[in-house]
Amino acid sequence: MVLLSQDDVIRLLPLAECVEVIDEALRAVASGDVVLPVRAILWLPDRHGLLGVMPGYLGAGNVLGVKAITVMPGNHGTPLDSHQGVVLLFEAERGRLLSILDATAITTIRTAAASAVATRALAREDAGDLAVLGTGVQATAHVAAMRAVRPVRRVRVWSRNPANARAFAERESARHGLAVEPAPSVRDAVRGADLICTVTSASEPILDGAWIAPGAHVNAVGACVPRARELDSEAVRRARVYVDHRPAALSEAGDLLIPIQEGVIAETHVVGEIGGVLVGAVPGRRTPDEITLFKSLGIAIEDLAAGARAYANALAAGAGTIIAMGGERLAGA
Ligand code: NDP
Repeated sequence: MVLLSQDDVIRLLPLAECVEVIDEALRAVASGDVVLPVRAILWLPDRHGLLGVMPGYLGAGNVLGVKAITVMPGNHGTPLDSHQGVVLLFEAERGRLLSILDATAITTIRTAAASAVATRALAREDAGDLAVLGTGVQATAHVAAMRAVRPVRRVRVWSRNPANARAFAERESARHGLAVEPAPSVRDAVRGADLICTVTSASEPILDGAWIAPGAHVNAVGACVPRARELDSEAVRRARVYVDHRPAALSEAGDLLIPIQEGVIAETHVVGEIGGVLVGAVPGRRTPDEITLFKSLGIAIEDLAAGARAYANALAAGAGTIIAMGGERLAGA
């Protein structure tokens, strides 16, 4: 069994490579080459955090596994990431455990990669005026992800805490050699933007649909539970909506479920899964002026595909820590 730490995963799973891995994985979801139950969520009694258990099976590569992850939004501002956990990969013939991988790194990289895949499929080719709402781990990862698939010329960042936006702008400007500007309000951040990433732990809407420019593509990444949302109903109503996995979206995505409950949209407003667009089964953007929206929840198949690639790269490089776990029938049994 190979143990891959956070540093190992970061070295073994470059973003550009992960974008292609997630592209393939989302195609597999659309083609039905997966077993993908909706994840189980255990809320702590005071609801300050949760434990998510995300099993899955991916036919291509015979990848079987599970991610177990805690989500503690209160970790923002501490040295600890808000997402802590492991991805376990099993061999599907005899069921042996192959690898334990740090899920903080996998979650960070695969989530940004999924938005990159959706952006590549749905955003206008020339989109490059990026608004990032939020300044946490995903905000950082999304600047790199958007740059990987579109010619980003300008970045504006908003935080409810202006000092965080200023610090983010300074740090990311230096990292990317690009002018990243702190914006005083969400409205200022998204004015005229053609790429918008909402990457906050907000549970009430921060993005008003009336502020979104025609032709923009939105990646809605936060708000992964039914009662939370980052987008108001008008933002969802105005957009052509795509999801990573329809059954999960219709049971977990507050950004969609709340406007459905309000009667503003019907379930049929969800055009389809992003993987369907990739395989040509679902139409993508139709005109330069329409607004497209990718509601990302994050699915186990992404974690398993990314984990399997990191594991394969580890075997090729002789990386990671090998642990003899056992798993053998006990003597006399
Ligand atoms: P972090 O904890 O690193 O950052 C959270 C960000 O949210 C901070 O910028 C914080 O801003 C902001 N924020 C918190 N509460 C509010 C609020 N009420 N209104 C506005 N902004 C707020 O989290 P991550 O970057 O790791 O994750 C961001 C979101 O994405 C989370 O909801 C997370 O669960 C979700 N996520 C989704 C994934 C997917 O696959 N779709 C995968 C991973 C994460 P401030 O500086 O003001 O405190």
